[in-house]
Amino acid sequence: MRNLQMVDLKSQYQKIKSEVDAGISQVLESAAFINGPDVQHFAKELAAYLGVKHVIPCANGTDALQIALMALGLKPGDEVITASYTYIATVEVVALLRLKPVFVDVDADTFTMNIDAVKNAITPNTKAIIPVHLYGQSANMEPLLALAKEYNIPVIEDNAQAIGGTYTFSNGETVKTGTMGIVGCTSFFPSKNLGCYGDGGAMFTNDDELAEKLKMVANHGQKERYYHEVVGVNSRLDTIQAVVLRAKLKHLDEYCAARSAVADYYDAAFSVNPNIVTPYRAPYSYHVFHQYTLQLKNVSRDEVQKKLAEKGIPSMIYYPVPCHKQNMLKEFGSDQYQLPVTDMLQDCVISLPIHTEFKEEDLAFITQNFLKIINQLS
Ligand SMILES: *Cc1c(COP(=O)(O)O)cnc(C)c1O
Repeated sequence: MRNLQMVDLKSQYQKIKSEVDAGISQVLESAAFINGPDVQHFAKELAAYLGVKHVIPCANGTDALQIALMALGLKPGDEVITASYTYIATVEVVALLRLKPVFVDVDADTFTMNIDAVKNAITPNTKAIIPVHLYGQSANMEPLLALAKEYNIPVIEDNAQAIGGTYTFSNGETVKTGTMGIVGCTSFFPSKNLGCYGDGGAMFTNDDELAEKLKMVANHGQKERYYHEVVGVNSRLDTIQAVVLRAKLKHLDEYCAARSAVADYYDAAFSVNPNIVTPYRAPYSYHVFHQYTLQLKNVSRDEVQKKLAEKGIPSMIYYPVPCHKQNMLKEFGSDQYQLPVTDMLQDCVISLPIHTEFKEEDLAFITQNFLKIINQLS
């Protein structure tokens, strides 16, 4: 059987091995494991790539979101509007800080937050909005930013799945995702579009004052060593991870293009089938396909997954249980929400393998078998 995986990080590593290995070995020789020069170099290089003033590295994407909420000074009970249709980390940090998660539904085509729903959810207690650029596609930021400005609410972008992606405003201006809100957060988890070889994360901002606060919160609440101004956390990017990220950042545009090409291949194969809804690409977004997520109609998803597995084709459900149905969040009244689109999507989505190293023969094998299975079952 073919050795197909959701993500192929081994082949990707082979292509940058000499640079990564040399860089890591230099860190080992210098023993600058924490805050070595590569961390600062990487932060500068990523800032230049994104077109943003400040990049503050941290230990993972979950911390990035938590530190952003802390640095913005949110207080227990403050309401934070976000999508239920996201990875749990987006909402978990809200709950952890004893803020109140307020869920809105998503649009069925883009999987990102519905802007009218956000408008209806705003109250005098709304102190932040967290749009999630899910699966690699930007949320619809222009109307969201206008709304946030009208009510003076900070926007924190969860960019963990969309680094390298862009958003184009109606005046034609195109910017990188994660740079439109007061702060953008990302993850360098290995399988993310820009992933390291362990855990990592970062925050981006154009606001000088906020940048200082983010740095301070990430570093035990201190600006000057051993003088602690606020309660913070300990969240750092390892030097070794920064080495990996510097090597991979140079290829990020290629990686995004390779993912996009896989999506094109899948789209072309599947778009004729009435039981498969291929991912919609919003005209305002350059979709970087962290996931390739289809909606299945009139077929049993369980059966499809079973038959795919028999052929050695992996598939995943992102995410089988939306946040508002997680036990973790019941104490926030999350189970009271009616989010019909989220519920509908949760029952019909399926994600196929997507990564930067595909051979055409593997894509042909996946698409042919997938179509055969759908036709058998429908
Ligand atoms: C991966 C991810 C995170 C969390 O990142 P970690 O580095 O795993 O902590 C947060 N939000 C979304 C949408 C993610 O996909």
